Amino acid sequence: MSAAQPQKTAIVTGASAGIGAAAMRHLAAAGYRVVGGARRLERVQAIAAEIGAGARAAALDVTDPESVAAFAAAVPEVALLVNNAGGALGVEPIAEAVDEHWETMYQTNVLGTLRLTRALLPKLLASGDGHVINVGSIAGFETYEGGAGYTAAKHALRALTRTLRLELLGRPVRVTEIAPGLVETEFSLVRFAGDRERAAKVYAGMTPLTAADVAECIAWAAGRPPHVNVDEIVVRPRDQAAATKVYRRS
Ligand code: NAP
Repeated sequence: MSAAQPQKTAIVTGASAGIGAAAMRHLAAAGYRVVGGARRLERVQAIAAEIGAGARAAALDVTDPESVAAFAAAVPEVALLVNNAGGALGVEPIAEAVDEHWETMYQTNVLGTLRLTRALLPKLLASGDGHVINVGSIAGFETYEGGAGYTAAKHALRALTRTLRLELLGRPVRVTEIAPGLVETEFSLVRFAGDRERAAKVYAGMTPLTAADVAECIAWAAGRPPHVNVDEIVVRPRDQAAATKVYRRS
């Protein structure tokens, strides 16, 4: 984006950590005025302050319809929506599945994306060159033991993304899914309820992606010309050939 063009607004959900925080930084560097949302507002505020350049933070809980409505109403215009808020809880097999885990995963990864997209679609259309980028996962098309709640949610998100692209045909909004493999963020810490040792084992002996690696993919997809729709980017560490096929050196 050249400096002469009017600044476009990009919204990033789940911007208090990991991929969302990195996406805020990368999109701001690409010239967007960024607005980040998450429940831990003070964290997003610190990231916005560090970025400067008109970056803003707002409280957002994607599982709460009122929070989404207030968040969406506070942004006058939007050209890019990055639905990134999400994550996994637990690794119980289906025989021992925890309903609350499944419900939270569906609420954040799927319904959260639906709510933000529905609320902001009129503004994305009005921008004349809108873009929805959903952060999915290789869990959107792979499965693994203990991962059914998360893979079911990311499969659903993938279906939502693909359906949205069909429904918006002929209208000025692009739709992209970014599907990463292992990325070292707070993801595993959240999945294992704060157990640092268990979370560290997920990345032991291999080189995972960084949040910045994924943010770069988001910014690249967003930066294509308006007639170019990048449908999906699957990005994994070289050390990972499938969800459960990881090369470890130690
Ligand atoms: P992370 O470091 O745990 O960040 C997750 C972000 O989501 C946080 O900013 C968190 O903010 C936000 N979030 C969670 N629940 C929310 C809610 N109810 N409302 C608003 N924000 C919420 O994990 P990450 O790896 O960056 O994850 C980002 C996305 O990438 C997720 O959709 C995840 O499924 C996907 N992904 C991750 C990996 C990986 O290996 N790390 C791989 C593939 C896909 P608050 O807690 O402050 O609300």
